[in-house]
Amino acid sequence: MVQEARHHAFGVAVPRIVVVTSPRPRAELPLRAELAGLSPYGAPQLDVPVLLNVNENPYPPSRAVVDDIAEAVRAAAGGLNRYPDRDFAALRGDLADYLTAESGVRLDPDQVWAANGSNEVMLHLLQAFGGPGRTALSFAPTYSMYPEYARDTSTGWVLGRRADDFALDPEHAAETIAEVEPSVVLLASPNNPTGTALPLEVTRAVLDAAARVPGGCVVVVDEAYGEFRRTGTPSALELLDEHPHLAVARTMSKAFGLAGARVGYLAASREVVDALRVVRLPYHLSAVTQAVARAALAHRDELMAQVGALRDERDRWVDRLRARGLRACDSDANFVLFGVFDDRHAVWQGLLDRGVLIRETGPDGWLRVSIGTPDEMAAFGTALDEVVDQ
Ligand SMILES: *Cc1c(COP(=O)(O)O)cnc(C)c1O
Repeated sequence: MVQEARHHAFGVAVPRIVVVTSPRPRAELPLRAELAGLSPYGAPQLDVPVLLNVNENPYPPSRAVVDDIAEAVRAAAGGLNRYPDRDFAALRGDLADYLTAESGVRLDPDQVWAANGSNEVMLHLLQAFGGPGRTALSFAPTYSMYPEYARDTSTGWVLGRRADDFALDPEHAAETIAEVEPSVVLLASPNNPTGTALPLEVTRAVLDAAARVPGGCVVVVDEAYGEFRRTGTPSALELLDEHPHLAVARTMSKAFGLAGARVGYLAASREVVDALRVVRLPYHLSAVTQAVARAALAHRDELMAQVGALRDERDRWVDRLRARGLRACDSDANFVLFGVFDDRHAVWQGLLDRGVLIRETGPDGWLRVSIGTPDEMAAFGTALDEVVDQ
């Protein structure tokens, strides 16, 4: 159908515009073959009362934090005619200070990099160190975004495996690295969706094997949930000094409760960071994002005050799930993988029908629940009793 419309701008008749509404011409698009038929990845975003599906921090920022963020954005807004600081020196300094305080490892600002979420940080790593003819390696089950970074950078993708208890066997890891000769190894610690953290000796074994790969290999330890680790669980930041091919990724999305701000970062050697500066888009971190992140970091103690409570709640839920005869993985993160169900989809749906959204992910039969407030967890417990005891 063809429609005609006469437009008048400021009372002056402008030339007749022909609007074609249908049928729409069908364009042949030169879509990359590996993207054909794919749909965008992501957990369902549903409007239900209890959201325990994407490992967010359930506690919103306090009034004081909101006010300071708003003031910082207001100040930044006055300069939005200018591009932001491309190298975000002030934010990198604040992040280095935070990491030093959190882990006890001294870091300089030029060992820190940031982007719009740690997903973008890791994409930068693949852009710099992956690419056609190269391979990225991880060990399943793990974070479902990793193969997407590989695909989007035309990097080959290989998955080794984790043991039955989801630990990473250092010998299997070293052998796989020797065989595959990847240019990037991606390891989540604590791992998503299992909650498993890597002991330092395993990370060391991976780093040693990576150091022997001809042409070099960067090891990325994704510590998105690092702040939730149990007492005595180390951070790979401790290994940075001895290993220039190590990058430790962190995020403000989880412990900091700032998923909506989109700020992720990493610590690595200056050489790694300099490579990432080459591939980033110009001014990738907006002045508003930088202002929000810095204002939030100034409140880090308050923002993270809930981390201890969330860890305690997590430990209680591991025990509780086991006490009711289910399996639950030990977790160093703010979620618990539990099961094993013959029909996990039915359990997931039953919970959803009762207003509780969790995540259907991980190996067959398992489900993942993010740790929410005590009220949200009580709702989850009640719903689970109804669904599983039927
Ligand atoms: C949530 C998560 C991230 C963080 O993503 P952002 O882009 O920083 O929000 C990174 N890695 C893993 C394994 C995660 O689960």
